[in-house]
Amino acid sequence: MPSKVYFINARVEKFDYQYSVEGRLERILEKLNLRKYFAENELVPIKMHLGNPGAHHTIRPNFVRVVVDHLKKIKAKPFVTDSVRIKGYEYLETANRMGYNPMSLDAPVIIADGIFGSDSVKVKAGDLLKELFIPSAIYDASCMMVLSHVKGHIDSSYGGAIKNLAMGCVSAVPRGCKWSEGGRGKMHFQMGELMAWNNDLCTFCAICAHNCPMDAITVEGKSFVVDDDKCWRCGRCVRVCPEGALFVPLSMENFSIALAESTQAVLSTFKPGKVFYINFLFDMQPECDCMSMSDTPVVQDQGILLSDDIVAIDKASLDLITQAKPLPQSKAESLVIKEGLDVFSLLHGKDSKTQIETAEKFGLGTSDYELVNV
Ligand code: SF4
Ligand code: SF4
Repeated sequence: MPSKVYFINARVEKFDYQYSVEGRLERILEKLNLRKYFAENELVPIKMHLGNPGAHHTIRPNFVRVVVDHLKKIKAKPFVTDSVRIKGYEYLETANRMGYNPMSLDAPVIIADGIFGSDSVKVKAGDLLKELFIPSAIYDASCMMVLSHVKGHIDSSYGGAIKNLAMGCVSAVPRGCKWSEGGRGKMHFQMGELMAWNNDLCTFCAICAHNCPMDAITVEGKSFVVDDDKCWRCGRCVRVCPEGALFVPLSMENFSIALAESTQAVLSTFKPGKVFYINFLFDMQPECDCMSMSDTPVVQDQGILLSDDIVAIDKASLDLITQAKPLPQSKAESLVIKEGLDVFSLLHGKDSKTQIETAEKFGLGTSDYELVNV
């Protein structure tokens, strides 16, 4: 049986609040009866990405507020959260600057694995990752609302709900552990050691050092040094190096398996039917929101998708993007879309569908969906 995915089209042609995207989001939340997922007095983590200094394409706070208001209306207790992506103290300030704070959202905004990013619980994962550490505010919760900003990604090409769970619901720096024993970097680096550095290509420009969230790279004169203990294997330095002097030997197949294993591990902490997903297909830039900048969107806004099936919602998101034309004045401007491929796959040179197909093989949902227009 196909999973239902509800679709709020970004096109609005009538001049009245009820036709607006926000108005239709309010209406569909009412109609969906979220009490099925979130009980009275139940604490509901609203998992999202809270931005990065320099990046500005994240989910607009007014949409998050609609979700908070609805959860409060059904007498659940929402709080907005993410795991540490840059140091926790700075991440909270970043969230505040992005407009995610208790005043704008009418809900607490907290770091799920604590201000130091080390408050997490070990869970079993699959054959590749073995075990992972889940932020305690997510592990201890009995349900979760997942808000994902859809965009591109360096390793998986496409970033949606699967990536939001797989990477965002895993601690980067579990207490007392090295990154390789359970941190998020396991997925980026897959048991490899530090990234490879090519002395011949390096111009010692220090862009990698400026983008490192852990100050793990020191570039002085003709010296390039990485502090193994500080590096949490986020891969940002590899992405930003203009010379291609940094390299991670990452297999797309292994990365997709890692994403599926991690998503499965995160979902294993909830009873079935206790996680709901909303994907926001706005401002779809080529890179992850972790970067220290945002580029112009590569396809036009598509709208909002809602579902309780993580595979179905990401498949529907990717299908909408695949049908969309690359936008002028964007990184995708000169792309010629090939049949069955989307702009993100073409931009990053990896097939976005792989993570969705792998997650389906793991039994996390179905790519057979019915799109219901709202
Ligand atoms: S960004 Fe690349 S070229 Fe610049 S210092 Fe780092 S490794 Fe070298
Ligand atoms: S992977 Fe690179 S950017 Fe990330 S923490 Fe390590 S050195 Fe810093």
